[in-house]
Amino acid sequence: MTIKHTQEYRDPAVSRQLVEHIARRSTRAVRLMEVCGTHTMSIFRHGIRSLLPDTIRLLSGPGCPVCVTAQGEIDAFVALAREAQVTIATFGDLMRVPGSHSSLQAEKARGADVRVVYSTLDALSLAKAHPQREVVFLGVGFETTAPTVAAAILTAQKEGVENFSVLAAHKTVPPALMALMQAEDVRVDGFLLPGHVSVIIGMDGYQAFFQRYRVPCVVAGFEPTDLLTAIAMLVDQLQTGTPRLVNGYQRAVTGPGNAAARAVMAQVFAPADAHWRGIGVIPQSGLAIRPAFSRFDARKRFDIQIEPAPEPKGCACGEVLTGAKTPPQCALFSKRCTPMTPVGPCMVSSEGTCAAYYRYDAS
Ligand code: SF4
Repeated sequence: MTIKHTQEYRDPAVSRQLVEHIARRSTRAVRLMEVCGTHTMSIFRHGIRSLLPDTIRLLSGPGCPVCVTAQGEIDAFVALAREAQVTIATFGDLMRVPGSHSSLQAEKARGADVRVVYSTLDALSLAKAHPQREVVFLGVGFETTAPTVAAAILTAQKEGVENFSVLAAHKTVPPALMALMQAEDVRVDGFLLPGHVSVIIGMDGYQAFFQRYRVPCVVAGFEPTDLLTAIAMLVDQLQTGTPRLVNGYQRAVTGPGNAAARAVMAQVFAPADAHWRGIGVIPQSGLAIRPAFSRFDARKRFDIQIEPAPEPKGCACGEVLTGAKTPPQCALFSKRCTPMTPVGPCMVSSEGTCAAYYRYDAS
């Protein structure tokens, strides 16, 4: 059987063939990392790990944007929520992430004006509806989210919405892949590359990384057959010693990606160093709002300095995010730390690895 892209991504028979192919071909121990929270959840939800031979170890990398947001950034969000004139607009996943001393949810319970929105344009509408308030959107997310935030800033500029700003904590994926390959304590034999991010950056976005490290890479979709196809392709590459960068999600991802989305992003944001939970500062892996849009930059508007802060005591999110530990290897997992009483973001986020293990892993 030759593994190729399939449009029959919902056919159980194809999935069965792929499982058999992987079992037949995988003869040596390999570590494959997915760098996408949606992949993590799909892998657990569909029981993919239980279908694979013992030779294949699937690791979850830094693919959940809420989880990789640094503790100091969470603390800055909380501090801003305490400003009397500020309304915080955020996606729901951030609400319960514990900062060093509080969370957005706790601040809301104490009376802070924190609103959950479903899009950046909702945040902009909030600003228009409440001109007496300073509405700050918390910009967390990868290349998938950043263009929509950039578009909201452009719209705010065009429409003269002066009480809207963004506290940008965006991060970009290819620099994180580089950092993982450079880390001494991280060993990854192949990457399942994220589907959504790849729609924006295209296969071209990974060329520099692949040319430098020559590690097997396959962009994957989210159906079980997509994931099994990508795993089979990685196993084939590893067995034959022929690393390649492959598009395993051709119905959504192209070579150049979405040039229009990237243009909007580049108009508003410039690459900047960023602090990732578990990894530290990765050069040019973040997005800073360009000076031309500084009036929409909450860092400038409220003179926010983001200071490094230690991660919650006992929380192993940092190691979980680099594949150095699995959640059950954290002493707090399922004891002090549960989805109802989360200690770290990996247990809070709907895409967090600890939440996935808690919900789906019975071992
Ligand atoms: Fe952190 Fe909880 Fe995960 Fe442990 S189980 S790493 S405390 S989020």
